[in-house]
Formats: sequence, C-alpha cells, structure tokens
Amino acid sequence: MVQLHDLKFTPFISEAEINIGIEKVAAQINADFENKTPVFLGVLNGAFLFAAEVIKRFKGDCEVNFVKLSSYEGTGTTGNVEFLMGLTSSLKGRNVVVIEDIVDTGNTLESLDRILKSEEVNLYKIATLFYKPASYKKSLPIDYVGMEIPNDFIVGYGLDYDGLGRNLTQVYKLKNSKMTNIVLFGPPGAGKGTQAAVLKDHYNLKHISTGDVFRYNIKNETELGKLAKAYMDKGQLVPDSITIDMLKAEVRQSNGGNGFIFDGFPRTVAQAEALEEFLQEEGTQVSAMIALEVDDEILVERLLERGKTSGRPDDANELVIRKRIKVYYEETAILKQFYLKQDKYFGINGVGSIQEITARLKEAIDQLV
Ligand code: 5GP
Ligand code: MG
Repeated sequence: MVQLHDLKFTPFISEAEINIGIEKVAAQINADFENKTPVFLGVLNGAFLFAAEVIKRFKGDCEVNFVKLSSYEGTGTTGNVEFLMGLTSSLKGRNVVVIEDIVDTGNTLESLDRILKSEEVNLYKIATLFYKPASYKKSLPIDYVGMEIPNDFIVGYGLDYDGLGRNLTQVYKLKNSKMTNIVLFGPPGAGKGTQAAVLKDHYNLKHISTGDVFRYNIKNETELGKLAKAYMDKGQLVPDSITIDMLKAEVRQSNGGNGFIFDGFPRTVAQAEALEEFLQEEGTQVSAMIALEVDDEILVERLLERGKTSGRPDDANELVIRKRIKVYYEETAILKQFYLKQDKYFGINGVGSIQEITARLKEAIDQLV
C-alpha cells in the first residue's frame, strides 16, 4: 500500500502487466508506421514513461515531441480554446502518433482531434497505455490500447494524484475507504450458500467461493488454472500458494463493492495468515469469521431431506453425512481459535427460518460496518 497526500492506494497492475501492454502497442505501431517517419507526440505529464518505452522500441526514423494540452478563456463566443503547448514546428502533412497515458471520458481526445485536424496532419493515430471503456463517452477511435481497466482512479507509472505518484513503477488504485470482509463458515446443510447470496446483495459484497474460482481458472485455462490442473491430474493436492494466488487475483480484479465474503477459504492457519497478508496489501483486513452453528442431528435431518430431491449421492447416506460434518469441525476448530484470539469469531445460531437466520447475521455484521 502507498499513501499519497491524504489517500491510500493499493497495488493494481504489476510492472510485468504494464510491459505486456507496452510491447503490444509498440509492435502495432512498428507494423503500421514502417517507413512513414512518424512524429511521436507525447502528451505531458502523464505519458512521459509510456512514451519513452514505445519510442525506444520504434525501429525506423521518427521525430519526437512532447506537448501539453492547455486551455485559456477565449475572448469571443467560443469559450475555452485549447492548444498544444510545446509544439515547436508545424505538423502539416505529417504522420502523427499521439501518446497518451490514459483515456477516461475522452474529452482530452476530442480536443486533440480538433487541434490535429486544424494542424492539417496527413494522418494521426492515438496510442494510450490505459483505457477505461466504461467511462468513455466519445466515438473517436482509439487505435492502440495497452490495456483496458475498470473505472478506478489509478496512480503510478506516470500518473499522479495531485502531483505525486508518477515515479511509482507499477500502478495502484484508490483504496476503498472501509471494507467489510467476512470469512463465512458453516457445516454442510447449514444454509451457507443461501445466506451468502442474501448478504452479498444487502451489503454489496463480492462472494468469493473458492470452488467457483478454481473451476473458473481451470475452465478458462488461466496460467494459475493450468498450474492447478497439473497437480490435480497427478492426483496431488494443489499447493496453498496457487490457491492463494488465485484468490489474490480475484480480489485485485474486483472493482468497487464494500468488501468480500470468503467461502471455502481459509482452510488452514497458513491460508488464514496468507489471507491476512494479502488483504493488508490491499489496505484492508478480515473483519470477522462468521460461522453458522447448527446441531448435528438437525443437519443430518436436513441433508437427508435434501438428498431425497437433490439427487446428490453424498446427501443420501447418513454415515457419509456424519463423516462430512465431523471433517468440517476438525478443519474449522483451529480456525475458530485463530479468529477467536483476534476477537473476530462470531457464532450465529443457524436454526430457524431463512429470514430469522439472515436477521441474526445482519445484527452481527452491522456491528462491524
Ligand atoms: P479524459 O477524461 O479527458 O479522457 O482524461 C483526462 C485526463 O484525466 C487524463 O489525461 C488524465 O490526466 C486524467 N485521468 C483520467 N483517469 C485517471 C486516473 O485514473 N488516474 C489519474 N491519475 N489520472 C486520470
Ligand atoms: Mg493526460
């Protein structure tokens, strides 16, 4: 986490990811501007690093200019007149590559478009390292995009917050001021899934189910998914580090929201410690472990009842059910101790109607928010 002035920012885009964006844009420009002697027009201040990296990778002849977009109150009826500060020679008839750090609403692009047309350039293309599609309001094409990002306020790699942060070698995003992060537990049959769905909507939390995250990564053949699958194919347990990296990626990608519900994670003290550590990097922490508590006999009854209609074989056999409940308590006992020590354990009576149980959960969570 970094602090700039009054605000905190958390890691968002790594140097490696930025480099992939740079290489992509540089390759496209090389292909399009071979033997065209382009004029690179870096838009200051934000684009200075990106411009340097792209220009460095250009193979042919080129010229380089850095400009600032400036505006002053027009004296006539036109209002704001914008112009390029630092443009030392005419761009008439030239092939121009504008290098921007970020395109957000597109207002800046529109001004640039107007100015370049009045300069009578031969052609111009726009390259930007970052692009926020959800915020873009214009129809001007953006020719080269390093990467698309969600609507977060970012700093680093040239981009500033009130003058600071341009020197950061990776990109950070503004930290959500107060997040509620819940580790949700409950034995099989306790209604954890049902309650997670209700809480997620009520508090605007993101539900991170470890099982879903695994299936998603494997199905989409992400790097981590491929790694995990290699272990599973050999019949081996997926190492903690891979599971943790997947969840970390999931947390980092998520945009907005008030926090997370972790479901199926952590399972071990090592995982609980890793969770603590990476939430800390995000500038936040586990708010509470919330466990639905239901008497064994009631669970057995519920699961046998569910088994009649669900068709799940593991719901049909009482011995199997009792074994699953026993494993749950063996697994979670140690985590209960871990969070009890931090005063973060909340046991919630899980017997009653769905609404009654939701009300009890909300009462506990409202103390945290
Ligand atoms: P526009 O909305 O005109 O596309 O973008 C205007 C300018 O706003 C950009 O050139 C950049 O200076 C600034 N900007 C937009 N989004 C961000 C952001 O997430 N972080 C920072 N530091 N500046 C931004
Ligand atoms: Mg800019």
